[in-house]
Amino acid sequence: MTTKPASNFLRDIIEADLAAGRYDRVVTRFPPEPNGHLHIGHAKAICADFGLAQQFGGVTNLRMDDTNPVKEDESYVRGIQADIRWLGFDWEDRFFHAADYFEQLYAYAVELIGKDLAYVCSQNEEEMRATRGTVREPGTASPDRDRPVPESLDLFARMRAGEFADGELTLRAKIDMAAPNMKLRDPPIYRIRHATHHRTGDDWCIYPMYDFAHGLSDSIEGVTHSFCTLEFENNRALYDWFIENTSTPRPRPFQYEFARLALTWTVMSKRKLLTLVDDGLVNGWDDPRMPTLSGLRRRGVPAEAIRGFCDRIGVAKTNSLIEMEVLEETIRDVLNDAAPRRMCVTDPLEFVITNHPADAEQVPLANHPGKPELGEREVALSGSVYVERGDFAEAPPKGWKRLSPGREVRLKGAYFVTVTEVVKDDGGAIVQLRGTYDPTTKGGSAPDGRKPAGTIHWVDAASSVPVELRVYDRLFAVPEPGAGELKDELNPDSLAVLRGRAEASVAHAGPDARFQFERVGYFAPDPDSEPDALVFNRVVALRDTWKSKRTAASAAAAKRSAAPAAASGPSAEDLAALRPWTDRGVSVEAAFVLHGDPALAALAVGAIEAGGDPVASANLVANEVVRVLSGASAADLLFGGAELAALQGLDADGTLNQRGVRAVLAELVAAGGDPAEITERLGLRQVGADTLGPVVDAVLQAHPDEATRLAAGEHKLVGFLLGQVMRRTGGKADPKAARALLMERARS
Ligand code: ATP
Ligand code: MG
Repeated sequence: MTTKPASNFLRDIIEADLAAGRYDRVVTRFPPEPNGHLHIGHAKAICADFGLAQQFGGVTNLRMDDTNPVKEDESYVRGIQADIRWLGFDWEDRFFHAADYFEQLYAYAVELIGKDLAYVCSQNEEEMRATRGTVREPGTASPDRDRPVPESLDLFARMRAGEFADGELTLRAKIDMAAPNMKLRDPPIYRIRHATHHRTGDDWCIYPMYDFAHGLSDSIEGVTHSFCTLEFENNRALYDWFIENTSTPRPRPFQYEFARLALTWTVMSKRKLLTLVDDGLVNGWDDPRMPTLSGLRRRGVPAEAIRGFCDRIGVAKTNSLIEMEVLEETIRDVLNDAAPRRMCVTDPLEFVITNHPADAEQVPLANHPGKPELGEREVALSGSVYVERGDFAEAPPKGWKRLSPGREVRLKGAYFVTVTEVVKDDGGAIVQLRGTYDPTTKGGSAPDGRKPAGTIHWVDAASSVPVELRVYDRLFAVPEPGAGELKDELNPDSLAVLRGRAEASVAHAGPDARFQFERVGYFAPDPDSEPDALVFNRVVALRDTWKSKRTAASAAAAKRSAAPAAASGPSAEDLAALRPWTDRGVSVEAAFVLHGDPALAALAVGAIEAGGDPVASANLVANEVVRVLSGASAADLLFGGAELAALQGLDADGTLNQRGVRAVLAELVAAGGDPAEITERLGLRQVGADTLGPVVDAVLQAHPDEATRLAAGEHKLVGFLLGQVMRRTGGKADPKAARALLMERARS
């Protein structure tokens, strides 16, 4: 597992903003809707929100986006908090609710009406939909669009006062019924809902729409970087419009979208997970087969493995489907390293060692083969042990390395033993083995150097304890469930309960214990455990479950050849193929995009060969080029690696800022050419320190109040002033240089 963090474009954005002085410190937020429990997709968002803020010394708010009064529930709120704490993140005293801002949001709505930027509309939902237009045709204005401001103000106040029934009136933003972005076609921002809210009770009978509340809540909280998944890309213009047209605090937040996590063999939407729970298809939200954080926790997955998984897949702009094996591999890596070894027999068959004295002796066994510092434990061995039924064959196949009559085998860490007699019941079933041991082989090696046929695990018959083992397989039988009825797609064998016996030491395990039961798998105690009825969950199988892997990998390969390259993610085996990229620090997601499209890979390789930085080249291709191509083939691009390397050069030496890089790339895709020439022709060169002086002076003159306060030490104003400089230069100022100049001039 690579320890280097995968590339992450959100980190780059924060770095650039801090360098530019846009903000004093980073504030992010995680904004769940409390209408279900969190799943591993949310963990990706949580690691981005909390993890990145942490890396930059910033803070993260936890905010319940609870604008919908009817679907939400306090028990979900408590569950969400427990899950985030377990993941290892802390919002300290910054626990908020969108509902806390209802009064402020109402005031913003009134402000919009006052500016004639919102109106009360009497169209019902149906009529609004019918007049919205299509992607090609503009919408039709509501007959109420020109309602006089005082009339809307009055109606809105009366909506709040409860004078109207649900759906009778709506408050709509007055934006543009012909906007190409349909979200901007006069969206509703308040609706009437006579419903009790889990926080505000019956105080309100009008509720803000999610789109109205979301961006404004970020702004009210002083969030700087608002991260969310790609499906909110079109909403961004709307959030920006609300922020720009109301007297919200400055500096204001900006939103950035990243790809949603999707995993094979499971579903990841709260609605579908709720169906599984409500229909009794699983045993609750925390069923260990669920992809919920509570399910994974109960199963015994360490939080560290979830965080490691999120690091490993990185954050990119391209939606992809990650193979479940990537998660399993990460869990295994963590547990292989950390989990002490124990012995447990899952299907016990008694083996009486006839020449062993009846008294128990103690056999020392290492707790971890690779970590002597974890010490050893003593395991009792008396005249009778249990071995796996499957480790004995009366008529063994060729190459059999385990027990069979007359064949010498090592009991792990103890002695060589040989079966001499097979005891059967009347029906012919084997009920007991009898045999001998060689007392000179204590510790597992013979003085004469002879080697046994193989090594098997065992437990002492007298001192071992009975255990219930819950062995999980995938919840679904199909690699991409969710297309049909969930109940028809379930794997009927997703849970097997075994009655085994484990060495006595596991009886004292705390709830956080994790063990590798040797040759069996990684296990963790389930909360159902009682002192005299131990229950263990299999967290993940050992590495050698080659069979299921082959099947999954070939299914994934078949699927990939049929589907567009970026639509599916890497299997565990694929990770090896991604190594040439990931070993150089490229994220799995970016690497997979390149791996799946030879033309893109060739482009990135070309850029590296022309002197480009490997991570930057991979990201430029996997994120930016793919974005500009938006689905078109990269096979006949009008430029190659040399141009990409040159573009990186213009970025690195400060000729272009990020916006400039994108503009050049768009031109390269459209018409090809030389990046330096394009930069000059389109006037994209960022305005550097030498020519910024007059612009900075003009800005300071235009904002004397801010300038004075900045001079007096109110450093957060530099962000606002920098914004003015950026505006006056059409976005072309070198933010670093502009910031330095502002500070310098303010001081003098
Ligand atoms: P679902 O579709 O599962 O119901 P949601 O997006 O409605 O999820 P929210 O509670 O609104 O769930 O999500 C809180 C945050 O988590 C949002 O910022 C959202 O973008 C993010 N998020 C949700 N699902 C995923 C996912 N699969 N991968 C990454 N981030 C996610
Ligand atoms: Mg949602």
